[in-house]
Amino acid sequence: RAKDEGKGSHRFFESAMDAEAQARRAMEIDLHDALRKGELELYFQPLFGLSQNRVTAFEALLRWNHPERGMVSPVQFIPLAEETGLIIPIGEWALHEACRIAATWADDIRIAVNISPVQFRSATLNSIVLQALARSGLAPHRLELEITESLFIDNVEATLGSLHSLRALGVRIALDDFGTGYSSLSYLRSFPFDKLKIDRSFIVDLLAHDGATAIIRAITTLADALGIETTAEGVESSEQLEILRTEGCNQIQGYFFSRPIPAGQVAALLDKLSGDRLAA
Ligand code: C2E
Ligand code: MG
Ligand code: MG
Ligand code: MG
Repeated sequence: RAKDEGKGSHRFFESAMDAEAQARRAMEIDLHDALRKGELELYFQPLFGLSQNRVTAFEALLRWNHPERGMVSPVQFIPLAEETGLIIPIGEWALHEACRIAATWADDIRIAVNISPVQFRSATLNSIVLQALARSGLAPHRLELEITESLFIDNVEATLGSLHSLRALGVRIALDDFGTGYSSLSYLRSFPFDKLKIDRSFIVDLLAHDGATAIIRAITTLADALGIETTAEGVESSEQLEILRTEGCNQIQGYFFSRPIPAGQVAALLDKLSGDRLAA
């Protein structure tokens, strides 16, 4: 009897796996056509500079308007795009689109674009970045590429070489989700980062643990000493904002200022966030 049950649950498990594999396959087929059908869109979330007291940049964040599923989160489709290689054309499109839109903004506003490790390791990234800059007319220093710590697990030499050749184009490099990955503090010294983006998990902790402020202080102190800027991700409250300001964080990103918004709403948001928003 126990044996039968065991068999039954095994069979159930197999069909659940089938269903999951089928769902993934269906999403993969849809994602393949998403670009051509114009279902992908970039949203923009502001980074607020504390010393400038204004928006200094926006981060471009992919959205997929699926005809039946509705808005699909990048947390769901980016991994699939990476496994299938679709991240290469999608990432190229995102880079062009982000530069095109940012070129219409004021000169003192940067655009940050996420670069997947798969894109980063492809031989064409440099020429794609160059082409996006040339076609949009965006000044290179206004483009910031966000990369993640996973690039440092292996092939450190190749990663370093690619970072230097990207930097030679005049673009900036930000290390995203700092503190969550395979961090070794030593690479902060050897790699040419312009910015650390302190992961949201540390910001969430700020109101819960005393030790969290000490961690933020350690990061901003180290970054300062190395001439690297810091951005705090996922700031949702004025309490968090005040701690980060005290600890010398350079920029704030999070729902406290704004959720990611469509390009058409950027001008109105800049209007709303200008003036004495913080002094109030
Ligand atoms: P990320 O680059 O770390 O982006 C920040 C994520 O945090 C975004 O999620 C943003 O909407 C969310 N966020 C911002 N402020 C807050 C806040 O105050 N509270 C909370 N709870 N969340 C906040 P999103 O847009 O869902 O993107 C998730 C991830 O997907 C990104 O994390 C990035 O790794 C990836 N991604 C998005 N767009 C692209 C892209 O164009 N290319 C690549 N390769 N990856 C992308
Ligand atoms: Mg990012
Ligand atoms: Mg991030
Ligand atoms: Mg993150």
